[in-house]
Amino acid sequence: MDVVFDSVSKSYGPITALKEISFEIKKGDFVFVVGASGSGKSTLIKLILRQVKLSTGRIIVGGSDYLKLKSFHNIDKLRRKIGVIFQDFQLISDLTIEENIALGLDIVNFDPHLIPSNIDVVLKKVKLSNRRFLFPSQLSGGELQRACLARALSIDPELILADEPTGNLDSVNAWNLIKLLKDINEKQGTTIIMTTHHLDFVKSLEKNVITLSKGS
Ligand code: ADP
Ligand code: MG
Repeated sequence: MDVVFDSVSKSYGPITALKEISFEIKKGDFVFVVGASGSGKSTLIKLILRQVKLSTGRIIVGGSDYLKLKSFHNIDKLRRKIGVIFQDFQLISDLTIEENIALGLDIVNFDPHLIPSNIDVVLKKVKLSNRRFLFPSQLSGGELQRACLARALSIDPELILADEPTGNLDSVNAWNLIKLLKDINEKQGTTIIMTTHHLDFVKSLEKNVITLSKGS
């Protein structure tokens, strides 16, 4: 899924988080967004998700201009093609891994008959088939992030947004996650935008990089 920012600015009241940002990410790209804490990385991700509204400029995702996407139906349709993973996992603690994934599928009206086999497939992809019936508290950090990736993959996304996904992982688990993302990008052609301040990943993968500094 293409993502285009055309001179995008975002302010929160008096605070300018992003200043006239322009870039073009092509379908199938794997792009890193780097920058110090407070440089605007999460704001960039939230803008793509429409969790926050842009102040000025234009955002076009999958050919849809966000300013023209007025109806709820259209926003929802686009949102269903985007999988997300965060630093703090955001799994529901009193649901099993399987139930967490099923809940996400239920929200997007996925055919209930196909949910169990879909969960089989995505858990196999992240090597967590044997954790299916456990609760989040029973998993390690690396496993939790892979469970989140499985949940993101279950909707068969065209775009994966990963906001500091390795932030709570040790380096072995961080590398495992990066390898999985690289694999998904190469084998399935899924566009991936990942924020990080781990520059060693960025260097070793040799992908395009957007570097933010104080919102610019
Ligand atoms: P990063 O993810 O790179 O750490 P953020 O996008 O979270 O950066 O934040 C960019 C700037 O915007 C920071 O100065 C931050 O304090 C500010 N900011 C982020 N979210 C809000 C908000 N909801 N209200 C006010 N200021 C915010
Ligand atoms: Mg952030």
